[in-house]
Amino acid sequence: MAPLRLAALGLLHESNTFARVATDMAAFERAGVLRGEQIRARHSDAQTTMAGFLDLHDDNEVVVEPLLFTFANPRGPIESSAFQQLCREMLDQLSSRGPWDGVLLAQHGAAVSEEPFNADAYITARVREVVGPDVPIGLAMDLHGNISPALIEASSVVSSDWCYSWSQVSGSPRALSSSAFRSRPGTLVSSEVLARVLS
Ligand SMILES: [Zn+2]
Repeated sequence: MAPLRLAALGLLHESNTFARVATDMAAFERAGVLRGEQIRARHSDAQTTMAGFLDLHDDNEVVVEPLLFTFANPRGPIESSAFQQLCREMLDQLSSRGPWDGVLLAQHGAAVSEEPFNADAYITARVREVVGPDVPIGLAMDLHGNISPALIEASSVVSSDWCYSWSQVSGSPRALSSSAFRSRPGTLVSSEVLARVLS
């Protein structure tokens, strides 16, 4: 049987709507706009959500293909032009390299752009449009992620890191990925619950 093909991508930002300095494209470029193998090179040994996604890769059963991953340090909302530019590239990659058996999204859950306001829900909904209703989408977010009906509706499973020290951070994406293939759309679970279910 052909291995499952999973796309891994994400736009991670912790936005502070009280901050006056908007997050522009240069802020993302300073921290890194990584594509394909650049993601693997930067994250494979890291303690990050993306590292957990990449760790699922197994030539025989699961092929994880990193597409685009970017983040910027916390500050004001993301400028609309930067947000749209990054989204467009993420979605173009997802569309042109599909079809996929699943999508793994490394967000943070606290991203706000000038427009649209709820950046994480917007990305998840656009990803859902690209892959269609039947492809599982697993979304990883931080403990304080903003959970909206639109975000839950577009994803198959949402996981939040429950441990402040982040000691679980690369383990929870593994659980998330496993559960994304078992869950019904709109399921909300924490990685603590997933750990219990899967142990
Ligand atoms: Zn956070």
